[in-house]
Amino acid sequence: MIDILICDAYLYIDHEQEIPDGWIAIEKGRVHSVGSTDQPPPTAARVISARGRLVTPGLVNAHHHMYQNLTRSYAPATRMPLFAWLQALYPLWAGLDADCVYVSSYVAMVELLLGGCTTSMDHLFIHPRPRLVDEQFRAAREIGFRLYATRGSMTRAQEDGGLPPIALVQDEDTVMADCERLVATYHDPAPGAMGRVALGPVSLFSSSERIMRESLAMAERLGLRLHTHLAEDMAEDDCCLNLYGCTPTEQFERMGWASPRTWVAHYIYPSTSEIDRIARAGVGVVQCPSSNMMIGGGSADALDMRERGIHVGLGCNGSATTDHASMWMETRNAMLLGRAGHGPQAMGAREALDMATRGGAACLGWEDEIGHLRPGACADLVIWHASDVALAGALTDPVEGWLRCGPAVAGTTIVAGKVLVENGEPVMAALGDVLREHARQARRIQQRD
Ligand SMILES: [Zn+2]
Repeated sequence: MIDILICDAYLYIDHEQEIPDGWIAIEKGRVHSVGSTDQPPPTAARVISARGRLVTPGLVNAHHHMYQNLTRSYAPATRMPLFAWLQALYPLWAGLDADCVYVSSYVAMVELLLGGCTTSMDHLFIHPRPRLVDEQFRAAREIGFRLYATRGSMTRAQEDGGLPPIALVQDEDTVMADCERLVATYHDPAPGAMGRVALGPVSLFSSSERIMRESLAMAERLGLRLHTHLAEDMAEDDCCLNLYGCTPTEQFERMGWASPRTWVAHYIYPSTSEIDRIARAGVGVVQCPSSNMMIGGGSADALDMRERGIHVGLGCNGSATTDHASMWMETRNAMLLGRAGHGPQAMGAREALDMATRGGAACLGWEDEIGHLRPGACADLVIWHASDVALAGALTDPVEGWLRCGPAVAGTTIVAGKVLVENGEPVMAALGDVLREHARQARRIQQRD
C-alpha cells in the first residue's frame, strides 16, 4: 500500500521533466512512482490534493550557519562590512552552549521547512563548548529533518594573522578528535541517510595550514566531503597575500583541496583562470544571494560558473547576514541577480530552481537521491502555497509564476515521506517551548538581560 498520494499537481520532477496534471506516490520514505492523470494512480493510505499547486523537490540549502539566528539583525553591526561584522559578533557567539545550539538549530530547521527546504547543511565553526554538533543532530532527529552537518573550526587567531580572538580558537588536535568522534557517531553514508558529517575549517584567513591538510587526510581516509568559505571578500585576498604570498584559490589548490569531494561557499573574487581550474577540479560552489547583497560584497557569477561546468548550489548563509532562512527567497534572489547581470534572456525560474535543487544536491554529493522526484528518490518534496491574490492573473507558467509572484511558502513539506509542514504550519508540538527558550537564549547571548 502506498503511504501518501499527492494528486492534481503541477509536478516539477527535475530539469528534464514536468508533468502538468500529475500525481506522485510515496512509499517507505521514497518516491514510488509518478504519472499524469490519464494514468490511474495506485491506491494510497492517504491522499493529498494539490489542485492548482506546484509540487517541487524539497530545496537543498548548501550553506548555512544555523546558530546565527540567535543574533539576527543585531543593530550595532547592521552596516558593517564582512570582517568588521564578524569581529563585532564573535564576542556574542562566544556565549554559545549546548542549549543555544539545540534551540537555534531547531528554529532554523523549522524555518527552512516553511521556506520549502528539506535538506540543509550547517556549518558550525564556533565551538566555545564541547559537543555542540550533537545538539544539532538531536534537533534534526526530533523534527525529522535531513541534516548534513559540517564540523567547522577556527584555528588561526588574530595573533597568528587570523581574524578571531584567541578565546574562540581551538587547537588542531582537539578539532580533529571531535571530527573523528562525530563521524563515528552520526555520519551515515548509506542511501536515504538522515544525517551526514563533512569537515569544514572555516576559511583560509581563520584556519591554519595544518588543519587544512589534516582535514583533507581524514576526508580521504573516511570518505568524507570537505567545505570552506573561499574568496568571499577582497580583504581575504590581502590576508592570503600576507599569510601565504598567493591568492585564496592558489592556497586552496596548494592545500590539495581542489577536488570533487569539496564544495565552497561564496567564491566571489576568483580570476577567470581560477574559475576554470576550479571547474576542472570538480569543486562545487554555493552562491548565497541574499547574504551577499546584504553584506554588499558582490556575489558569485552563478550563470557563468554553470556554463563553465561548475555545480552551483544556493545557500541562506546565516541567519545574521541575511537574517532569514527561506530557500524560496534565495532562489528568487538568484534569479534576480542572474537577470540583473546578464539580461532577461539569460535566466528564468527554472535555472534558479535547478540550482536550488540539483545544484545544491551535487554540492553535497547527494544528487542521486535528493533534489529531484524521479522514482526511487528520497520522498522530500513541497506543495507550494501563494495567496490567490499574489497569483491572480498568473495563468501561463506555474514555475515562472511560483518564483516571479509570491512570496511563496510551503503549504505542505514532506521529508522522507513524513509530513512536517501541513496547511502552512509546522507540525512539531514542541515548537512553542523551543521558541520561548530561543528568546531567552538570544537575550543572554546578546547580553540584554
Ligand atoms: Zn558562511
